[in-house]
Amino acid sequence: MKSDKWTDRLAVDGQVYIAGPCSAETRDQVLTTARLLQGGKVKIFRAGVWKPRTRPGNFEGVGAVALPWLREVYEQTGLLPAVEVANAVHVEKVLEYGIPVLWIGARTTTNPFAVQEIADALRGNDELIVLIKNPVNPDIDLWTGALERIHKAGIKSLGLVHRGFSVYRREYYRNVPGWQIPVEIKTRFPHIPLLNDPSHICGRRDCIENIAQTALDLQFDGFMIEVHPDPDHAWSDAAQQITPDTLNRLLEKLIIRHPGFTGTEVLEKLNELRREIDKTDGELLRVLKKRLDLTGRIATEKRLRNVAVLQPARWKEIRENVSRLARELGLEETTVLNLYGEIHQASIRLQEKIINQKEK
Ligand code: PEP
Ligand code: MN
Repeated sequence: MKSDKWTDRLAVDGQVYIAGPCSAETRDQVLTTARLLQGGKVKIFRAGVWKPRTRPGNFEGVGAVALPWLREVYEQTGLLPAVEVANAVHVEKVLEYGIPVLWIGARTTTNPFAVQEIADALRGNDELIVLIKNPVNPDIDLWTGALERIHKAGIKSLGLVHRGFSVYRREYYRNVPGWQIPVEIKTRFPHIPLLNDPSHICGRRDCIENIAQTALDLQFDGFMIEVHPDPDHAWSDAAQQITPDTLNRLLEKLIIRHPGFTGTEVLEKLNELRREIDKTDGELLRVLKKRLDLTGRIATEKRLRNVAVLQPARWKEIRENVSRLARELGLEETTVLNLYGEIHQASIRLQEKIINQKEK
């Protein structure tokens, strides 16, 4: 799947910058924000008009009355307005006001009925830019499915927005980044621009820069960031919004690195290191195979003696051993434990197969 090159038209230093308030609140707030962004790196102006709030009773957006304000943004500043749509009526309204950029929010991406309704309403409007945020849950196929539905409706200017994933208990992040998911979607769709929304990942101002830098280091194609002239008094998502001025300073601080190595000398050195890595991967997999073979032999003993697969005390002992070893080797303990979680699952699956094998 491909997108046309809409990002080339709007990129500055190879990146597309989208910014604007979480919500359109008043005409004055919208136009003031847009004027403060005008002339900088930001070329697309976002503003939520209908706000999909997780729980009722919060500010739910001013609705379609804000659409003329966004037209004014376009006419007065040249910034392209962008609005979130969650159903066919929203799409109809947005088309009526000639809004050129739409996005599908995280809660909507989780629902194929809603995405299909939006896709059907979009049919025939192939000049629009449509961005699809990741679903709230880390389900790459749901994200992919939403992209496919919009693509099938004939939309050619597509983009994906990574805004993190909900977790049971919010700790540092409002939505954990789960970087492996955008990395995988980038691998699946290398020709679809991938943007990062650090505002909704962080839920707070002080981590936006770090998240944005990581996104650049992972070769994202741009950003969607929430800005407000008076962030503390924003009607929604106050804690994560920054002023346009803070955004401009933040964008200056970000480091855009080269997309790859160039120069024969460094390439030779690199190839040598990569060959070493490939060799090490071979060794790792052979060791893994050896470990699973041992597990299989234990499973045969368990089968003969009718002993349960899971031995909690032994699993605890393994975890303690590898934690200690990880610390000694200077490896990240949580990474090693996660890895062992996977290995243990594979071992359980193998043992289940052996222990439940039917006699021939
Ligand atoms: C938003 O962009 O304001 C928004 C509601 O985001 P998300 O869908 O990522 O929660
Ligand atoms: Mn928001």
